[in-house]
Amino acid sequence: MKVPLLDLHAQYEPIMSEIRKEMDKVFDSHWYILGPSVKEFEQQVETFLNADYAIGCASGTDALILALQALNIGEGDEVITTSFTFFATAGAISRVHAKPIFVDIKQDTFNIDPDLIEDAITPKTKAIMPVHLFGQAAEMDKIMAIAKKYNLKVIEDNAQGIGCLYDGKAAGTIGDIGTLSFFPSKNLGTMGDGGMCLTNDEQLADNMRQLRVHGEKPKYIHKWVGLNSRLDSLHAAVLKVKLNYLSGWSEARRKNAEYYYKNLKDLNEITLPYIHPKAVSIYNQFTIKTEKRDELMKYLSDNGIGCAVYYPLPLHLQECFADLGYKIGDLPVAEEAAKKVLSIPIYSELSEEQMAYVVKTIKAFYNK
Ligand SMILES: *Cc1c(COP(=O)(O)O)cnc(C)c1O
Repeated sequence: MKVPLLDLHAQYEPIMSEIRKEMDKVFDSHWYILGPSVKEFEQQVETFLNADYAIGCASGTDALILALQALNIGEGDEVITTSFTFFATAGAISRVHAKPIFVDIKQDTFNIDPDLIEDAITPKTKAIMPVHLFGQAAEMDKIMAIAKKYNLKVIEDNAQGIGCLYDGKAAGTIGDIGTLSFFPSKNLGTMGDGGMCLTNDEQLADNMRQLRVHGEKPKYIHKWVGLNSRLDSLHAAVLKVKLNYLSGWSEARRKNAEYYYKNLKDLNEITLPYIHPKAVSIYNQFTIKTEKRDELMKYLSDNGIGCAVYYPLPLHLQECFADLGYKIGDLPVAEEAAKKVLSIPIYSELSEEQMAYVVKTIKAFYNK
C-alpha cells in the first residue's frame, strides 16, 4: 500500500468541475490581477475568520513583509520570533532590514515559549511574531499581555493555521496583523503561490492595500516604496471554491488525528502531538517525536509511507543568520525538536485502511 504525505489528486478530484467553472468566469472577464474574484474571496475570508479586513497578496512570505512594512518596522528594529518554523518567518524580518531575535519553543506544542519572551525584549524591540505551527495556535493570551505591557505589535504568522482557534478566536485575528499562505500544501492551498494579510485596524488595512501595489495611492502617487504583491484572480477563483470545504476538511483531519491518538497511545517510544487546552488545532501536520527518528523515517519510506521532517535545522543555526551570533546550545528545546520530529500523513482524504497501515507499520518498526 502507498500512503503519500499529502494527496492533492484526492483533494481536487471531487471539486475540479466546480473550480473550472469559477476559473472560466475569470477567463471570460480577462481580469487577471486583483479584481472582482479577489474582492469576493477577501470578503469570504473576512466572514469565515471574523476579521474586519483581508488583503490578498502574492504569497505567505510577502504577507509577512507587507505586515512588517505596514507597521513601519525596518532598519534598527528587533522582532522576537521562534526559531522552530519555516524559514519565511525570519526571512521576512530580515527582508525589511530588521533583526530577528529568536526565543526557544515549548517542548510539548513546538510553539514559541511565552515565558521566554520578556527576557528577549530590548529598547529596540518593535514586535512579536508568533507562529501557529502545524495548525495549532501559540499561547496568544500570554503573548498579547506581554505585548500590551511593553507596547509591542503582534504579527501572527498563521500560514499553517487557517481556521485554528485559541480561546474560541480564530488565529490570525488576535494580534495587530495576521498572515495566511495559500501554498499548495497548506490546509487552504491554491494552484500556485498566494497569501493574505488580516487585520481589524482600518489604517493598517489601508497601508497594506497600498503596499501591495508599490505603495501607491492614488494611482501613480507614492508615499512609500511597496512591493508588487497581488493575489491573482485565478487563484481567488480556486480559493473561493475551496474555502467552502475547509471546515469539513479540518474536521476530517481532527478525526484522523483521533484515530492516531487512539491507536498509537500505548507506544511509549513515540510522543504524540500535544494540543493546549485552549487551542483547537487544524492539524496542518501530525508531528510525532521519537529518538529513532531517522531510522523510523527510512522504514516508513521503504514501506510506501510519506513522511517529512519539519524542520531539521532551527533558524538560529542557519548560515544566513550566522552574524546574529547564535550557537549550538542557545535554544536547546528547538534543537532537540529538530532531531526528533517526524510528520506523518494526516490529510483529510486518508482512508481508515491507510491509517491502519501507517499504525501497523510504525508498530512493526518497534517490533510491537
Ligand atoms: C508556508 C509558510 C510561510 C510562507 O508561505 P509562502 O506562501 O510559501 O510564501 C511562512 N511561514 C510559515 C510558518 C509557513 O509554513
